[in-house]
Amino acid sequence: MFVVGLTGGIGSGKSTVADLFAAHGVPIVDTDVIAHRVTAPHGIAMPQIVAEFGNAFVAADGSLDRARMRALVFSDDAARKRLENITHPLIRAETEREQREAKGPYVIVVVPLLVESGNWKNRVNRVLAVDCSVETQISRVMSRNGFSREQVLAIIARQASREARLAAADDVIVNDNTPLATLAARVDAQHLAYLGLAAP
Ligand code: ADP
Repeated sequence: MFVVGLTGGIGSGKSTVADLFAAHGVPIVDTDVIAHRVTAPHGIAMPQIVAEFGNAFVAADGSLDRARMRALVFSDDAARKRLENITHPLIRAETEREQREAKGPYVIVVVPLLVESGNWKNRVNRVLAVDCSVETQISRVMSRNGFSREQVLAIIARQASREARLAAADDVIVNDNTPLATLAARVDAQHLAYLGLAAP
């Protein structure tokens, strides 16, 4: 199956673009959804997380206590690594399973940190970046999440730069002050290109 990795900074419009591809019948595998699921109640990462970090990081419903874990890994890189050593292989395996089971002309995998997490690029046929200015990211995330400007800037600072992302991309969809109808037309064109690449 031909695999497109869809990426972009926070608030760039990844979900919006993914929905537009889905409207064409393209199956979407969302690594954020999978990441959440592995640490949900009875999530497949939970037994290992308990073994590694103890019950203190488990919420009453059996899911990961996200606030507590966030507080730990925020200041402790070694703990972040221990957590990722558990979750990343499981997320990867689940992503590959969903890709294999997907039915459609090609599959889109949404990977917010595709450019940051090295080996992802080798696991997709094309990298598609959704691009907008940092100012646009800030205003969208402030209104979507109710975050302050500083909070959004802190998240952006931990992500790849716009330049690095564009350099890693095979294809770019611009989504900056873009009316939704225009964005949909850009997705239509990209979809046609991918149909050609997936079944030459
Ligand atoms: P991401 O998944 O990259 O974080 P989203 O697709 O959730 O980004 O978009 C961030 C916010 O901006 C959402 O509230 C979304 O509805 C809005 N948005 C994205 N693109 C546009 C657009 N072209 N026009 C209007 N609103 C948009």
